[in-house]
Amino acid sequence: MNSSYVVAKFGGTSLADYPAMQRCAQIIHDDNHVRLVAVSASAGVTNHLVALSHSNISADERQSHIDGVLAIQNNILAHLTLEADLATVFSQTLAEFERCAAIISTNEQHNDELLSFGERLSSCLFSQVLRDVGVNAQRFDVRTVLKTDAHFGKASPNVAATKQAAEVHLVPLLDDAVIVTQGFIGSDQHGRTTTLGRGGSDYSAALLAEAVSAKSVHIWTDVVGIFSTDPRLCEKARPIAKLSFDEAAEMATFGAKVLHPATILPASRAGISVFVGSSREPHQGGTWIEKEKSQHPGIRAVTQRKNQILLTLKSPEMLLASGFLARVFTILSESNISVDLVTTSEISVALTLDNAPNASRPELDQACLERLSEFCHVTVENNLTLVALVGSEIQLRQHEMNLMQVLADFNIRMICHGASKHNLCFLVEQTESDAVVQSIHRRLLEA
Ligand code: ADP
Ligand code: ASP
Ligand code: MG
Repeated sequence: MNSSYVVAKFGGTSLADYPAMQRCAQIIHDDNHVRLVAVSASAGVTNHLVALSHSNISADERQSHIDGVLAIQNNILAHLTLEADLATVFSQTLAEFERCAAIISTNEQHNDELLSFGERLSSCLFSQVLRDVGVNAQRFDVRTVLKTDAHFGKASPNVAATKQAAEVHLVPLLDDAVIVTQGFIGSDQHGRTTTLGRGGSDYSAALLAEAVSAKSVHIWTDVVGIFSTDPRLCEKARPIAKLSFDEAAEMATFGAKVLHPATILPASRAGISVFVGSSREPHQGGTWIEKEKSQHPGIRAVTQRKNQILLTLKSPEMLLASGFLARVFTILSESNISVDLVTTSEISVALTLDNAPNASRPELDQACLERLSEFCHVTVENNLTLVALVGSEIQLRQHEMNLMQVLADFNIRMICHGASKHNLCFLVEQTESDAVVQSIHRRLLEA
């Protein structure tokens, strides 16, 4: 095993068209430590595939999404002559896509199969772009090694099985070629295609890096690193040169879309450093995420996660009754629902859940609500945003005045702090959340 391997991941915008793919190919050409590449679908493709997975669309809409996928692939293909091995896989994959897209189904297994085509197609095309700049690239089907459970739409990896399969099928290939594989997808123990959830390619790259014992993961995207807040929202957002695993994990969890929330888990487990940079400006540097404790105590960034659901559960039984919370969380866990914030009073518990649009699977389903309603009164509120201040050793009293001003200006729905010194979270109305983030950034991060 070679610990100097680098795993590179390229996101959708980095692979959106032929010139973008050429820039990514040059990055790999210039760094011979990169032996394994995980690719996303070209920008826009997964959204078309998610739309196709909805059974209630008209025949015309269905056709326009199929055409949308094909147009993106064909625009890139027009610049390439695929070598025989890639041409065969590409045309087989396209034919399979057209068969799969013609089936109208609500079956989650079928939908994951459908969602997998974006990455399967982009990995073919990108392999050829790499060969054209002189890199010996071989396409590899990640489903051979990235093993998951059968929770279609948001599968969890089986880390041990993935490592075992990677050692047998993937590691031996890395010395002879640059292996190009798919992010986002995997397979369950029966070989059925699964997906890791939207934005999951970052997570795939980190899981693969762990499985092949790589030294680092390079996440190439459309921004020059992780910023103090989403640079699209605040002109004065600044890239952060170094983050600890804890800080980066909190930022990803609380909405910095630049990293899938689970990306840091494998990296911190295996001590693999993570770099985030821009494939458009690879020489501009970026953010390094490493094991070392942060040298910068205090608030380092503000993030937001829109489309949150606030679930309030009230039960008279909670008064002096033990087991209420256990019962609630057992049901949520059995429904595979992950909870972000929790506050409790004597007779109620309020918790937040994610309800991302374009998710391949809704977070809260009717069956779960019915089970909860059997023993408590349930209220569901939508259109909320979770805003998080992220850093290390966050101490409320240091920011009291500035925070109080922000709190006074907006309607704050819920506040959580204390479980971790890495975050302080609020729940606000979605219509106000951009303004809340801008105000917090101005008062606390631009000083
Ligand atoms: P990719 O397609 O490469 O995976 P994403 O669109 O998923 O890229 O993530 C990159 C985007 O994340 C950026 O364009 C930026 O708007 C957004 N973003 C949100 N928060 C942050 C942040 N704190 N720092 C940098 N980018 C952020
Ligand atoms: N293509 C998938 C998505 O758009 C995964 C990814 O890009 O990370 O969600
Ligand atoms: Mg992404």
